[in-house]
Amino acid sequence: MTATDLLGWNRLDAFAVLVEELDLHGLHFQHVALCVRRAWLHLRRIDYAHLDEGMAMGEVLHGLSHARDRSTDGLAGLAPDRIDWEAGIVFEAKGSAGAVDAVSDQTAFYAVMLTAATRREWQAATHLLRQKRMRLVPVGPERLDRLWHSAQRLRGLHNPKASAPAAQRIPLCASCSYRHLCWK
Ligand code: SF4
Repeated sequence: MTATDLLGWNRLDAFAVLVEELDLHGLHFQHVALCVRRAWLHLRRIDYAHLDEGMAMGEVLHGLSHARDRSTDGLAGLAPDRIDWEAGIVFEAKGSAGAVDAVSDQTAFYAVMLTAATRREWQAATHLLRQKRMRLVPVGPERLDRLWHSAQRLRGLHNPKASAPAAQRIPLCASCSYRHLCWK
């Protein structure tokens, strides 16, 4: 299966229903691929980004990179950075080229959701701001499997009775805004 078979993914509608039911956004899929504790915190809208200088700089870079694409306004639950409606490509902008799988999950999520909503095949690309280049995100079987399993994990984390997963030291902790909470 390739990106052009997305409409044939037999979980497409079930995935879209689950996303809507849990009010999931693209960033949830990035977080859960990086760290389940981070995803649990984000699901509960616990935000430490304001304490993090690196993230603040990233926001500035993001804001300066391009005029906001107003055509994405009103897409309930979807907030990609840019959409090429004619070519059928959805773009997510990132400051750096790291965390490829997690970032690709977030970008692919938008393509999957747009495909479910419009019944038209969408492609995905990550705009790497510092590198000034695009990275195409293949939306094939492996990616779709990852998104499905991530959605199941997010469902478990979303449960009000789910307690916070324990903090585990991983390389990401050094740049994660939640380090102020996890490792104070
Ligand atoms: S600081 Fe580390 S353990 Fe805590 S949320 Fe971030 S990545 Fe996860």
